[in-house]
Amino acid sequence: MLYDKIKDTDPETYGYIKSELARQQDGLEMIPSENFTSIAVMQASGSILTNKYSEGYPGRRYYGGNEFVDKIETLASERAKKLFKVPYANVQPYSGSPANLAVYFAICKPGDTIMGLDLTNGGHLTHGWKTSVTGQTFNSIPYHVKKDGMIDLEEVRKLATENKPRMIWVGYTAYPREFPFEEFSRIAEDTGAYLVADISHIAGLVAGGVHKSPVEYVHVVTTTTHKTLRGPRGAMIMVTDKGMKKDNELGKKIDKTIIPGMQGGPHNHQTAAIAVALLEAAQPEFREYANQVVKNAKALAASLMRNGITTVTNGTDTHLILVDLTPFGNGLGIFAEEALGAAGITVNKNTIPGEPSSPFYPSGIRLGTPALTTRGMKEPEMETIGMLLAEVLKQVKNEKLPENKEEIQRYMESFRTEIKGNQKVKEANAKVLEISRRFPLYNEIESK
Ligand SMILES: *Cc1c(COP(=O)(O)O)cnc(C)c1O
Repeated sequence: MLYDKIKDTDPETYGYIKSELARQQDGLEMIPSENFTSIAVMQASGSILTNKYSEGYPGRRYYGGNEFVDKIETLASERAKKLFKVPYANVQPYSGSPANLAVYFAICKPGDTIMGLDLTNGGHLTHGWKTSVTGQTFNSIPYHVKKDGMIDLEEVRKLATENKPRMIWVGYTAYPREFPFEEFSRIAEDTGAYLVADISHIAGLVAGGVHKSPVEYVHVVTTTTHKTLRGPRGAMIMVTDKGMKKDNELGKKIDKTIIPGMQGGPHNHQTAAIAVALLEAAQPEFREYANQVVKNAKALAASLMRNGITTVTNGTDTHLILVDLTPFGNGLGIFAEEALGAAGITVNKNTIPGEPSSPFYPSGIRLGTPALTTRGMKEPEMETIGMLLAEVLKQVKNEKLPENKEEIQRYMESFRTEIKGNQKVKEANAKVLEISRRFPLYNEIESK
């Protein structure tokens, strides 16, 4: 195995990495924010660049010896600008959440009013949720989706007109339809707000030309690099021409907020891996990949619905599907996650519009096709996987969460044991293994 030196130095950590590799290989990874990077991306992020300190920016660092790191960071930033067609890109944020924080502090002062989609409706923690520092530092006015699952644009306009937010987020973590950038740009223009698109989930779809780009409509774009974009864990902040027109210092302000405002030395190994991922994302094959991700999601949604499963908005425009389990009962997300896990299918529980239960015991699950598509799966596999999912989901139909909080844990423990022995779940797991083995993953790591 490629990780032989870890084996020599630290057998315990090695053992866990090996088990995790087997888990990734032998299961169906259907968490929509996850993906499998190329070996090239992993080699860059596992490289000697982790040794270097480079506080500052190319050409103006607080440390010597940065001539090559400068080249790498410039390369990553130039590739980002070219791929997303923006005049400015900062590739230093450690991850998506710090990137979003930097945008807040570049544009707003503590106490300013901001708007984002409510977390339980599909928004992200960093878009002003009450337990996030963003909701505690800024005056957060959340907007919502309608009963049908679509963004309530009338509410957005009304709230924005009444509250005059300094900044509005458009971008989601659990929304299966095209993000309405154009509609938001009219609202932001009419109310004077800065409009920030958080395309963490859909960056790969935008780069691949299968989702509308926000660049023409918003002032700032943030994204993680490790979701559909298929890079290392990391993030980028981009300013559009429109953003530069609103404030030609915006790029500089973001640079300053990242360092010295929030971060110290950039993670150069990550920057190099982002550069590699951006080169990959600019290839024609990546356009095909992005296109197949969406085709697969549509095929999967259709198969689920044919097999009696309800999806929010009855399908998807993107890589993501939100399953509504309320026809089977309220608060069943946790049971579904456990049952599918026992079958070797990794998903996550999620709230649904008008959630009748709670964020911790929600009534839906979130599914996505980016990782399966990277393995080479296509519509016929989605058809089968939709059937397997439906079969396993039907096994939790009669479950009911105990009212008493202390009882929940005990109940879940016995459920976990019981579901592993369920015949239908066992059969699904055998099928999952068979499909996984037909689409091998990272054989080159094992064979080294
Ligand atoms: C994933 C995600 C983030 C946060 O990224 P982390 O790297 O987990 O901090 C922010 N916004 C949206 C919309 C996301 O989907």
